[in-house]
Amino acid sequence: MRESWQERFAESPDVLIDARRRQTIVPVRDLAVGGDEFVTMAGPCSVESERQLMAIAHRVRSAGARVLRGGAFKPRSSPYAFQGLGLEGLKLLAAARDETGLAIVTEVMSERDVSLVAEYADILQIGSRSMENYSLLEAAARSGRPILLKRGMMATIADLLRSAQVILSNGNPNVILCERGIRTFETAMRNTFDAAGIALLKQITHLPVIADPSHAAGHRELVPALARIGIAAGADGLLVEVHPDPDNAWSDGEQSLDFEGFAAMMARLQPWISLRGPQVREAKPEEPVCIDPHCAEALA
Ligand code: PEP
Ligand code: MN
Repeated sequence: MRESWQERFAESPDVLIDARRRQTIVPVRDLAVGGDEFVTMAGPCSVESERQLMAIAHRVRSAGARVLRGGAFKPRSSPYAFQGLGLEGLKLLAAARDETGLAIVTEVMSERDVSLVAEYADILQIGSRSMENYSLLEAAARSGRPILLKRGMMATIADLLRSAQVILSNGNPNVILCERGIRTFETAMRNTFDAAGIALLKQITHLPVIADPSHAAGHRELVPALARIGIAAGADGLLVEVHPDPDNAWSDGEQSLDFEGFAAMMARLQPWISLRGPQVREAKPEEPVCIDPHCAEALA
């Protein structure tokens, strides 16, 4: 790694690549996030009902997802919006795991709820709005569960890495970073997807990085393209919102894919995923990187 990056991110020394640590592999049940397998996490923004969650769990698993996502505690900007099912949502997630074998990722919003959420979840999600809640980060770290740390919508890469450092410093090495879009002057999209941020994170940190095209785009028709861009930038996995009836979802319907849309996206991602690996993940600037399958054939 260039010395200038080392200096710039000197406040989070343990997350940076060095001779001892090139890639952290986060164990999650039978999965290894950051390893050779590309890991897609998919599910509803909010857990709404047993029927909704079970249908989603089966459909995302058959389309290739390995982790079921779903919010039980929801950070909503309006106090009048649906706040999540809480404990009932956690129980439904656990039941969906029992039925499908999918691992579970769900958000914990409050320090007070860490032990409860950690009882049910395989991965604790720290949401964008909580990325700088350091007492939450410490409590989540000490639960011992792997942490999915979402980048704050106004956070720089250095801010994100400092928060990851807090988790590592509290004895938990199992951190997965998530790029979910940042706020810029652009308002047509919900956020601006920082693909360069993913590429940079893959060059400087040993932690796995996943891309969340759903919150980045805010519009479902943009999700497949952002997913492909995320993979091309070097992401180790995706976090995608899926709902059986997006127009009637209790939260984030506008950016949620329906079952057919998710399956179609996943099927089309295969060429990008299969070309992942040394070419994409460790490409030197002077080497041609070929993501398009026809281009790859031409070079072979
Ligand atoms: C979510 O994953 O549903 C969510 C609330 O994400 P973010 O924290 O990135 O807004
Ligand atoms: Mn959401």
